[in-house]
Amino acid sequence: MLGLMQDWPLLCHRIIEHAARIHGNQEVVTRSVEGPIVRTTYAQIHQRALKVSQMLDRAGIKLGDRVATIAWNTARHLECWYGIMGIGAICHTVNPRLFPDQIAWIVNHAQDRVMITDLTFVPILEKIADQIPSVERFIVLTDKEHMPPTTLKNAVAYEEWLKEADGDFEWKTFDENTAAAMCYTSGTTGDPKGVLYSHRSNVLHALMANNPDALGTRAADTMLPVVPLFHANSWGIAFSAPSMGTKLVMPGAKLDGASVYELLSTEKVTHTAGVPTVWLMLLQYMQKEKLTLPHLKMVVCGGSAMPRSMIKAFVDMGAEARHAWGMTEMSPLGTLATLKPPFDQTTGDARLDVLATQGYPPFGVQMKITDDAGKEVPWDGKTFGRLKVSGPAIAKNYYRVDSEILDDAGFFDTGDVATIDQDGYMRITDRSKDVIKSGGEWISSIDLENLAVGHPKVAEAAVIGVYHPKWDERPLLICQLKPDVTCTRDEILQYMDGKIAKWWMPDDIVFVEAIPHTATGKILKTALRDQFKTYTLPGAAA
Ligand code: AMP
Repeated sequence: MLGLMQDWPLLCHRIIEHAARIHGNQEVVTRSVEGPIVRTTYAQIHQRALKVSQMLDRAGIKLGDRVATIAWNTARHLECWYGIMGIGAICHTVNPRLFPDQIAWIVNHAQDRVMITDLTFVPILEKIADQIPSVERFIVLTDKEHMPPTTLKNAVAYEEWLKEADGDFEWKTFDENTAAAMCYTSGTTGDPKGVLYSHRSNVLHALMANNPDALGTRAADTMLPVVPLFHANSWGIAFSAPSMGTKLVMPGAKLDGASVYELLSTEKVTHTAGVPTVWLMLLQYMQKEKLTLPHLKMVVCGGSAMPRSMIKAFVDMGAEARHAWGMTEMSPLGTLATLKPPFDQTTGDARLDVLATQGYPPFGVQMKITDDAGKEVPWDGKTFGRLKVSGPAIAKNYYRVDSEILDDAGFFDTGDVATIDQDGYMRITDRSKDVIKSGGEWISSIDLENLAVGHPKVAEAAVIGVYHPKWDERPLLICQLKPDVTCTRDEILQYMDGKIAKWWMPDDIVFVEAIPHTATGKILKTALRDQFKTYTLPGAAA
């Protein structure tokens, strides 16, 4: 027997309709790419999103067609998301930090018909325009005054394009399993893989993100997503914030410490979310200028491990540090470190111990850890295993790839190695390919990196396994120091000594000017492994 409840498909555009009706005057503030701060509201975003739909519909964009965006976090970009999805087209967010050839590969693979771009990326697109013939027209997110001369096909300034629409348009209703958006994972090996979100998965993920132990913003809160709309579905914030009526502050193209601080401070931001490198820049800036952020309640940090020293810096500032783990394939939230009883009663180091884990999943994500044969290993906080997940907002396949990616029980292998304790708190040990295999035992590169950045002179640290004739691999610590400081190898080794098992201690330390990052802000270990391929560790000459 079926239930007697209404058939109300979970469609993304219903979120912005709700925001416009119930929180219509709530502000969305943007640092525009042109420069000035621009203020709009959810009601206006909804109105303009309808115009985007009307124009795309007029251009013959149909259900299932791909429309790409390559743009910063701005209100215009958000309007485009909803405008594209409202007609059942697929919003393909392209990461501009990829190499131009990778961008061309992705656009071709997705067969995008329209490309919506910020001014910043016009030169990149001009260079690859010949390689992306599926794109029929380019829309530049600016007005007539700022529109540059360009060779891009059928290029038009967004504001001019929108003027042709009156917004008298109705969004479509279709099956909630219809594809809504796509995002390619920037794998460090092999071709990028397209993750295809559905309307249903995005709406369910937004509800999950709204839970108070997840992102948990309210209508009276202000959220500044530093995490870009083009990275991992914007961590769901493009849906969760409007669904709650939370004020949004969009940082545009300026993500340096001073610019982010300025917006956090002037807009009295309560919640913010981004990767550790962004928080590193912010904290360094605040420290140097002796600044505070009295309104800040929560800093969500994910994408890479949040170092303990960073958690402490935010906690000391009076904000909650919420360490999150997830993946593009998971929409992306997987786990968040919040203090459930009895851990909410802990203080000092014991409290930091829990906050530094990757946390536990909200309802809607199931996880397990297995050995290489697929057999589950215990949740004892010690046994490492391959981390696998299942849930309604987790990929079951990649776009146009014909291979099975789930195990027999329907779980997706994340490629991460983790432990889980009796209370369900998960700790990422490493990416399976980054873990250091020393004499048949595993050393977590993440643990060593987190410890090293706790040293007051270290800005960022990376650990890789380097060939060793006796142990196969031993850890090499690569450090980028804070500006204008000097430091020796022994100072850092002394600092680490006693804080980890003796055999985990790095065999050597090298200092570099800058640690390379991937397009999504993760340490680019492949480049470091390449650079130090022939490095001989002290005492390891064969
Ligand atoms: P992406 O799909 O680009 O978001 O990358 C997902 C991967 O980033 C995960 O599989 C992890 O390897 C890594 N990752 C994300 N969050 C964390 C975290 N909090 N700690 C450690 N690794 C993380």
